[in-house]
Amino acid sequence: MEYVQTIIDRVKKENPEQCEFHQAVEEVIKTLQPLLEQEDKYSKKAILERLIIPDREIHFRVTWMDDCGKIQVNRGYRIEFNNAIGPYKGGLRFHPSVNQGIIKFLGFEQVFKNSLTTLAMGGGKGGSDFDPKGKSDAEIMRFCQAFMNELFRYIGDHTDVPAGDIGVGGREIGYLFGQYKKLTNRFDGVLTGKGLNWGGSLARTEATGYGSVYFAEEMLKARGESLEGKICTVSGSGNVAIYTVEKLYHLGAIPVTVSDSKGMIYDKDGIDLALLKEIKEKRREDLSAYAREKTSAKYVSIKDYKDGIHAVWEIPCFAAFPSATQNELNLNDAKNLLANGCKCVSEGANMPSTLQATELFLQAKICYGPAKAANAGGVAVSGLEMSQNASMTKWDFEMVDKRLHQIMENIFLNVSQTATEFKDPTNLVMGANIAGFRKVADAMIEQGIV
Ligand code: GLU
Repeated sequence: MEYVQTIIDRVKKENPEQCEFHQAVEEVIKTLQPLLEQEDKYSKKAILERLIIPDREIHFRVTWMDDCGKIQVNRGYRIEFNNAIGPYKGGLRFHPSVNQGIIKFLGFEQVFKNSLTTLAMGGGKGGSDFDPKGKSDAEIMRFCQAFMNELFRYIGDHTDVPAGDIGVGGREIGYLFGQYKKLTNRFDGVLTGKGLNWGGSLARTEATGYGSVYFAEEMLKARGESLEGKICTVSGSGNVAIYTVEKLYHLGAIPVTVSDSKGMIYDKDGIDLALLKEIKEKRREDLSAYAREKTSAKYVSIKDYKDGIHAVWEIPCFAAFPSATQNELNLNDAKNLLANGCKCVSEGANMPSTLQATELFLQAKICYGPAKAANAGGVAVSGLEMSQNASMTKWDFEMVDKRLHQIMENIFLNVSQTATEFKDPTNLVMGANIAGFRKVADAMIEQGIV
């Protein structure tokens, strides 16, 4: 434990104020302890010391002009974390909360998540503190072009393959790709989440949400349970949340909540999926519009949330799907969920539970699917998009969905077998971290000191 603590202390000292990065490292490294005790090759080869420092941290200025002709300046990032098992791979996040520490925590998580998918992808992440909310389509385009003006020199289909994350969807990937092509004169699979007519994969939009539900299904199946007829709560209302809701309906469950940055909807008969898609995907409005159009639904504004409590997690449910953002589920929320009989948590967002909430779920021995495993479906289908691009083929929806389902089943199997191997069978956090780490670490050792 002393060695592990030295590493954590070093991360904190060398990256002051990057608390989300500290949190992500602490969670991973502490659970590696049993592996490190069993095998001394990882400490001898300084694998942890190498893993906590990204291969490369790129930080740049993005200058663009708004619709009023005013010059705007944002910060852009791409952190290439580790490419031991494949090219750097991971999304871009456009959100005002983005800073170096946020991108670093996301990149660190991505290394292990991508390793679990079984596909050849290293880990990276990028983004900007640009706020897409309230921007016109033309402003989004100019920002994406300005962002790519710098990013293009670092990426490539065998080097680093960005994709979407919060604030970056099909529209943004389109503008980014257009500018990449203009600058390089190359049409290649340098981004994933592309449009369906120009290299995108079917089922990529659905993949993270579907995958998180498939993962929950596997966890429950192993205990002889299922989602059928069960009340589920979902947070968020982006791509991940929407397709979590959709897949829950496919499996006969009843998703009753969604949320956004302004508030949450509780619709006790089940979320109206068509209305949700209309409001979020087409009209790009906030969820108060849902409550105006469906008066049976209850809307709670974020201003009315109780202190330190997220209203979504107060709703009794059998299974919870945190699908909004990091640290959206704290110790109070975890206590509320458990007190109300929640038996399963599957994380669609990246690091949605605080360390204390995670600890409580593990103690309660409920089915707890940590983000690295549960939300790996998105990047897995990005990997399938890369293979379709490389072979110049296009698979149909069923084929991609089937592969996604198999990948999620395999991740569950790998993670739970690893947890059993290290004598804590219900601890999928440890299982995911050790399984993800082992593959990357062994590749690093085989590739020498570089
Ligand atoms: N942003 C997603 C994630 O957190 C997807 C990344 C990708 O498709 O490369 O895994």
